[in-house]
Amino acid sequence: MRKTAIIGGGAAGFFLALNLKEMCPEMQVTIFERGKRVLRKVEVSGGGRCNCTNTFEGVKDLQSVYPRGHRLMKRLLKGFSHEDAYRWFEQHGVPLVIQDDHCVFPRSQDSHTIINLFLSEASRHHVEIRCETVVTSLDDLRDFTYICVTTGGQPSTDGLRWLSHPIEPPVPSLFTVSIDNDRLKALMGTVVEQATAMIPGTKIRSSGPLLITHWGMSGPCILKLSSMAARLLAEHHYQLPLSINWTGLNETETQDMIAETIRRNPQKMLATVRPLTLPQRLWNYLLEKALGERAHSPWGSLNRKETNRLVNTLVNDTYQIAGRAVFKDEFVTCGGIALQSINPATLESRLRPHLYFAGEVLDIDGITGGFNFQAAWTTAYTVAKAIADDSIR
Ligand SMILES: Cc1cc2nc3c(=O)[nH]c(=O)nc-3n(C[C@H](O)[C@H](O)[C@H](O)COP(=O)(O)OP(=O)(O)OC[C@H]3O[C@@H](n4cnc5c(N)ncnc54)[C@H](O)[C@@H]3O)c2cc1C
Repeated sequence: MRKTAIIGGGAAGFFLALNLKEMCPEMQVTIFERGKRVLRKVEVSGGGRCNCTNTFEGVKDLQSVYPRGHRLMKRLLKGFSHEDAYRWFEQHGVPLVIQDDHCVFPRSQDSHTIINLFLSEASRHHVEIRCETVVTSLDDLRDFTYICVTTGGQPSTDGLRWLSHPIEPPVPSLFTVSIDNDRLKALMGTVVEQATAMIPGTKIRSSGPLLITHWGMSGPCILKLSSMAARLLAEHHYQLPLSINWTGLNETETQDMIAETIRRNPQKMLATVRPLTLPQRLWNYLLEKALGERAHSPWGSLNRKETNRLVNTLVNDTYQIAGRAVFKDEFVTCGGIALQSINPATLESRLRPHLYFAGEVLDIDGITGGFNFQAAWTTAYTVAKAIADDSIR
């Protein structure tokens, strides 16, 4: 009888096991999990609600949601897409809902619905689950025809060395940034719906809601930036300049908007007429940062230099990142098993036949919004299919 070992009882490991059993009911499947319990990340994901996929609506370029592995994901999504994942969960008795921001959750708003499904299906298919079993050598699994590695993201290269494969060194992705600026931090709780964050001197930029926190900055705009700049920031020990455009407009548009505000409100005070929908406290802060004492003047008294300084502060407000902080809901690893060492069609190792990889252990990672679980489902399905095809040869 053919046997498959799956190392890692997380999202990818379970999805792989269940799909493989559906395709090959006679396959004997064992999941080895080092922890006392399986599926721990699924449990805490999405604030306990599990943002299990995304509609991908408005995603024109996969690189914008998968900073690492977008080419491979493009190929693999043709075999198992977000729509396939959506259908899979609904057909297995987990109704889903789509939020306005295109994130997909179980209708129950509870990650346990997905965990219960995985556990009951694993039991129905007689998948053996061995908890508290750490695998540290592939040779220990010589009895198995196929071995699948679904060990998830590792904090360092050491956790991957036993696999004897080329590694892209792991570094964190999806974090918020600390900024040592008390005047900024005094604005904690302030949200700007359409901000753009940039790393000066690079092409790295991201847009979206930005939240000022008591340690610095957070929100989708910053998390996405941290994902796109994960390796660069790590190389610079999380100390790089960060430029914020608060306006949602480009520089010329901002100049025009300020000129128009001056024209219409020459007598009114700068603080009382906000040309943008920026929160009042932030507007006051930006006025003082740009103009100092002159922040308490009428619009019509601004000279050309002051106007330029105001525009520059609005579109290119520069800070120094002082470190990284972990986002409460999500944290993934950039890096992992190098994609050149695996067959892109099957995710089988090019170095060791019948060894497969799926999930976050691969050098694939996404931004927040359900893209990381989608990568787990897609890669796990690909491996299940490859093994099923191979086993009937
Ligand atoms: C707090 C949090 C919230 C998140 N929320 C979301 C979300 O809402 N949406 C989203 O898309 N993504 C989210 N993510 C990311 C998502 O959870 C991961 O990308 C996903 O779980 C990866 O699945 P995986 O199966 O590859 O790895 P994991 O889920 O990490 O599973 C790997 C398993 O392998 C086990 N293991 C590791 N090494 C060994 C070994 N040597 N032997 C045996 N077992 C081993 C581990 O104990 C673990 O159980 C979140 C992450 C975190 C941390």
